[in-house]
Amino acid sequence: MARLDIQSLTKSFGETRVIKGVDLRIEDREFCVFLGPSGCGKSTLLRLIAGLEEATSGEILLDGQPITDLPPAKRNLAMVFQSYALYPHMTVRQNMSFSLDLAKTDRKVIDEKVQRAARILELEPLLDRKPAALSGGQRQRVAIGRAIVREPRIFLFDEPLSNLDASLRVQMRLEIARLHQSLQATMIYVTHDQVEAMTLADKVVIFSAGNIEQSGTPQELYRRPANRFVAGFLGMPQ
Ligand code: ADP
Ligand code: MG
Repeated sequence: MARLDIQSLTKSFGETRVIKGVDLRIEDREFCVFLGPSGCGKSTLLRLIAGLEEATSGEILLDGQPITDLPPAKRNLAMVFQSYALYPHMTVRQNMSFSLDLAKTDRKVIDEKVQRAARILELEPLLDRKPAALSGGQRQRVAIGRAIVREPRIFLFDEPLSNLDASLRVQMRLEIARLHQSLQATMIYVTHDQVEAMTLADKVVIFSAGNIEQSGTPQELYRRPANRFVAGFLGMPQ
């Protein structure tokens, strides 16, 4: 189980409130997409969920248990960043095993997990390469592989495809959808790309300026956009 409940969550940086009281439930195994324009607080909300930012007020519950005060390592989540954030001096294998090495996991177990993730992501022939010798799509796969080996209950993706060219983006989008099917994990995926959102999501949550404008299935949003902002953002005639 990995159900997330976000309750009256706020976040201010100094005087500026960037998350303005968010209430949201993300169901077990749901593929939930945060969609909204640049600067509306999507990354901040994801970082709050990951524990990389401290909430100003409100609560985050995982399966009913508060995790708001837990450090990132205790939250059972794994985040995949837009920038990939790979270690340039390490091989693919070392990049993927790093978090398990830190946790002093048994060597044999680590090797098995890395091997399995590499198989799923078709990275097996590249395990001994360094990031500089990989294409953008391959780097993104390594970043996802690094998350998979940790076997998190929830995957957090922050615009993971925005540095890829258009055709690779389509291909990686399909791979992420396939991954969601095979891992049966809860996934939260941030994007400003409405096509990406509508093709991947079980539930889309549309944000503007730190607030949720509407959430629902892609069909619900298209059928009944709550306001002009939502309709406009989905590219519908108004
Ligand atoms: P998005 O991911 O939707 O583009 P962000 O969550 O990155 O938006 O940012 C939301 C707002 O919060 C922006 O106005 C941004 O400048 C501000 N912000 C984000 N992180 C910080 C920070 N560490 N300090 C100050 N302001 C920040
Ligand atoms: Mg962002």
